[in-house]
Amino acid sequence: MVGVYGAIFGFIPFYAFVLHYNAAQLIIGTLIGLGIAVSAIEGAFAQMFKFRKRSSYPATLLVEIGAATTVEQAHSQLLDALAELFKLSGAALLLDNAEPGDETPALGLDSNRVQCLRTSIGPQIETVMKSRRSLSQTVDSPIACANDRSRQALAVVPVLAWGRPAGVILMLSPTGKDLGDHELLDGIGVAAGVSLENLRQQDHLQDALSVLQATLDSTADGIVVVVADRRIASYNRRFLEMWQVPEHLLSGGDGAASLADWVLNRVENREEFEQRLSDLQGDGSVDSFDQLRLKDGRLFEAYSQPQTIEGNIVGRVWCVRDVTERAQSEQTIRRLAYHDALTDLPNRALFTDRLTVALAQSRRLHQPVAVVFLDIDRFKMINDTLGHAAGDDVLRSIGAELSTLVRDGDTVARIGGDEFTLLLTGVGGDESIAAVAGRILETIRRPRTVGEQEIHVTTSIGIAIFPQDGDDAETLLRNADTAMYRAKAQGRDNFQTYTPAMSDEIVRRVSTESDLRRALDRSEFAVYYQPQLDRATWEIAGAEALIRWHHPVRGLVLPGDFISVAEETGLIVPIGEWVLRAACRENKIWQDMGLPPITVTVNLSARQFQQANLVAMIAGVLAETGLKARYLELEITEGTTIKDPEFAAAVIQELRDMGVRVSIDDFGTGYSSLNYLKRFRLDRLKIDRSFIDELTTSPNDAAITSAVIAIAHSLGLGVVAEGVETQEQLDFLVKHDCDTFQGYYIGRPEPAIMLQGLLQAPQVRLDSIRTRYPRLVS
Ligand code: C2E
Ligand code: CA
Ligand code: CA
Repeated sequence: MVGVYGAIFGFIPFYAFVLHYNAAQLIIGTLIGLGIAVSAIEGAFAQMFKFRKRSSYPATLLVEIGAATTVEQAHSQLLDALAELFKLSGAALLLDNAEPGDETPALGLDSNRVQCLRTSIGPQIETVMKSRRSLSQTVDSPIACANDRSRQALAVVPVLAWGRPAGVILMLSPTGKDLGDHELLDGIGVAAGVSLENLRQQDHLQDALSVLQATLDSTADGIVVVVADRRIASYNRRFLEMWQVPEHLLSGGDGAASLADWVLNRVENREEFEQRLSDLQGDGSVDSFDQLRLKDGRLFEAYSQPQTIEGNIVGRVWCVRDVTERAQSEQTIRRLAYHDALTDLPNRALFTDRLTVALAQSRRLHQPVAVVFLDIDRFKMINDTLGHAAGDDVLRSIGAELSTLVRDGDTVARIGGDEFTLLLTGVGGDESIAAVAGRILETIRRPRTVGEQEIHVTTSIGIAIFPQDGDDAETLLRNADTAMYRAKAQGRDNFQTYTPAMSDEIVRRVSTESDLRRALDRSEFAVYYQPQLDRATWEIAGAEALIRWHHPVRGLVLPGDFISVAEETGLIVPIGEWVLRAACRENKIWQDMGLPPITVTVNLSARQFQQANLVAMIAGVLAETGLKARYLELEITEGTTIKDPEFAAAVIQELRDMGVRVSIDDFGTGYSSLNYLKRFRLDRLKIDRSFIDELTTSPNDAAITSAVIAIAHSLGLGVVAEGVETQEQLDFLVKHDCDTFQGYYIGRPEPAIMLQGLLQAPQVRLDSIRTRYPRLVS
């Protein structure tokens, strides 16, 4: 400014001389004026140049700082630029938002000096912050914290970000160049503030954007933003993975367009999906949800939502999820829920559903529906003997066989361990159902190979028919089950159709259980004894103890009607112990009476045999009753030994060591062979009644019986024939060297007093037997 005025005032004397003075004066004046003017003009130019330069400082700063990519970089570029522009010896940037540990950005000043400066001009800084105006002064070196003793110019400039003071810039200059220009300093403060704030916000935005991108990339969903003209505006990494987008598509020229095409080409039904897309374009405001089947078999779920900017729809954001696995597992779960995993047949739930549907149909068409309930005989035995894997094999093969035996529309289901059910529709009355049942029995009966073993499996079948045997699925199933039970009771390997009387039987079974629980306490049991005749002496050498139940309402109940219930419920354990004690006590009494000593035979159920304290219990009973061990014989069945032969052998050994005799009951009905029995140290075996029954009519049974006797003898075992009812049977058995006979022909099971009588005075029948067959020993 001074220069401009200088120039104007320089010209005034120049013109004054030109207008009013003589030549000499004029020349002198001119020279003087020119001198003044030149200096003035020079000053003015200098001033103007300077002014221009200084006014560009803020812009320079904006450019310099704006080029920075990090806040730290911006700080140092700011200080560098200021040092350059103002020829500074030192500068520092004291910002409010600096973290406590942060190094204060400084130039030409170490951190100690910055700290020193900050404290020595604390009040000034505060004033500047409050007034938002810069302040400059000349300070001595102690205040300037300078090393030398020089005086320095100091400027404190407020950094203003959008009018808000954000800190101060301290500038130290030995020359003081421009540091008095407050307008300039304030401008610089604003420029620095705005730039830094901008950068800080950008930094935040960058942060936010990177977090957003990372979030999008880490989601399981492929996300894609589609804008006008089906152009893909952005997407996340997952999107590319899901659609298996090749690299070249992304780097290529018209990436977005070919990307859209690539995606559409993967969809199995492209036209349909494109139609859907144009529908959505028509009404851009709605959300959409679609399932997309891809050509490679995957299943995607696509959810889309309009993207709006200030209320205007600009595109659509798609979230695409790969649900292939989920869909598959849902299908598996559905299948598992309705199918049996082992055989892959429908399970009970599906069977019941289908039955219900079939019943509804049959009601309209007045057609019968048959429910066939099938249970494998002694399946537990197969499992126990051959192992569960073999059991599973048997179940699978039976399931497969059953499926081949029914018509296409019929259902075969596995509804429990070894239980199968069949739903037969359009059956032509009892006749054809009987035919189906017969076919099933025959098919299952065929020998099958499991592992290396050939085994024989049979089934018991119960049948219930709609409408006569039930009106709903549940009743029909229950009644078919009841009929199946009946088939089991009839000796297995047969089929029974339901009759209402069968239900009565089931009811009786249930009441049997509850009555049995009280029977011991109420002393409703009794032991009957059936004599055993010895071939060597033709004397009564033993008696089998057989339980009887005097039911308060039903009268005399035979073991066949309650032993199985007692076994199932475990009640057989206390009941069996009671029989044992009674038999031992009775036998001791007979001996004490001076009657010829006999062996009493007591049946042991498998359940009792498993009891850990069995041997101790028996020893206890013997001690308690005083009966010598050799007058007690225990009968076990083959089934008892099969489950755990090692264990059985050990228990048998312990019993024998004690002096108790052990025999195998019902020989020939189980799975074992004489060879198998060799490993147990037994005393005798009892040939099952079923062989004796037809001894004189069936050559087969006769052959088996004579062979069993011969082999048993060769193994050192005694043989008892049970169920001897006729003289012919006895003749045969005597002829083939059987050792002991038991059966109605010799004597029925009777109360203790009757056996006592027999022992005291052998009956006439025994006399006739004795005369017929002479004694072997005397
Ligand atoms: P089991 O051990 O085979 O007993 C022989 C069964 O055959 C007895 O039936 C007996 O009365 C019957 N019997 C004997 N001789 C003849 C005959 O000549 N002809 C005919 N038709 N039958 C004859 P019971 O007493 O009804 O016993 C049936 C089954 O109940 C027994 O078969 C046995 O397994 C079981 N049982 C009986 N008492 C007990 C017991 O105290 N404990 C255990 N665990 N089971 C017992
Ligand atoms: Ca027996
Ligand atoms: Ca028997």
